[in-house]
Amino acid sequence: MEKKTRILVIYTGGTIGMQRDNNGTLVPFDFNTIEQEFPSVRHLNVDISVHKMSPIDSSNVTPALWLELSRIIAESYDNFDGFVVLHGTDTMSYTASALSFMLENLTKPIVFTGSQIPMGILRTDGRENLITAIEIAALRRFGRAVVPEVSLYFQNKLFRANRTTKLSADALNAFDSPNYPPLAEVGVNIVFKENYIRQPRVWGGNLSISNSFVTDVVVLKLFPGIAEQTLRSMLSVEGLRGVVLESFGTGNAPTAEWFIDILRDAINRGITILNVTQCVRGRVAMELYETGLRLQDIGVITARDMTSEAAVTKLMWVLANTTSKEEVAELMLQNLRGEFTE
Ligand code: ASP
Repeated sequence: MEKKTRILVIYTGGTIGMQRDNNGTLVPFDFNTIEQEFPSVRHLNVDISVHKMSPIDSSNVTPALWLELSRIIAESYDNFDGFVVLHGTDTMSYTASALSFMLENLTKPIVFTGSQIPMGILRTDGRENLITAIEIAALRRFGRAVVPEVSLYFQNKLFRANRTTKLSADALNAFDSPNYPPLAEVGVNIVFKENYIRQPRVWGGNLSISNSFVTDVVVLKLFPGIAEQTLRSMLSVEGLRGVVLESFGTGNAPTAEWFIDILRDAINRGITILNVTQCVRGRVAMELYETGLRLQDIGVITARDMTSEAAVTKLMWVLANTTSKEEVAELMLQNLRGEFTE
């Protein structure tokens, strides 16, 4: 008889497991409300184990949680066929993006999900999200995982995790992947878009984890009227190593001399500046306008169509794993986990 697929569900917290306190405020709770759903989950014919972390609201997530998650996954990697991570929606795209960079030679699914309404509430979206995420993590064809990458499942859509962003604070379809098609759409059937699913370079390789992040970075969103003094102070923070510059449109920024000088000076001091567009859709193309070209000329690096979440987590990870500035630039321009469109 064929062995049942084994799935490890890792619970980190978030609305899915929250309860109201005496003031009616949602606070992290234990796993009980979720576990009550397990009789229905058991019908999936999958062996499910649960690892409960101490539950937090995902606004409190730091790289420490990313390291802890990767440690749990690494330790149980050989004993499970797939992983489902239950996480608060607020920063889920950051954690899932970070994990995608940390885990090399991944051949098993890691599916992130959560909910907008707690499990304990009748109208919860958590039940469907959890059950389908488990089903997707468990799916195998010819002995291999159908989705062997870090993904995010929410409201009938499966996305590549490092392409996602939380777009709605209150809609049930909170997530989107604006620059990459969904990996699967869920209706009566789960329809996979095989061509969009990333396959491992080798199936037999060992999972390798590089687990450190540099937090000396800043995300700097431009706006008309940004003051010289503000920009100068932000970029002269001691120890700063990287900047994700959220620019206008196709990667444009003011051409004022003081603005360019401050950026050039930061680059000369060894700080990496990555150009991400503020637009939800589309990509950076610095060569299009003079306002972009100036940035390119002083050595600002294009993030192409990466999300801010992917850009900042990749930068934090790359900075921790390489020493030279040239190597950092080279890795930022390499498509490591399908995080941008070539
Ligand atoms: N504040 C919650 C969190 O991110 C929101 C959610 O899970 O939907 O932990």
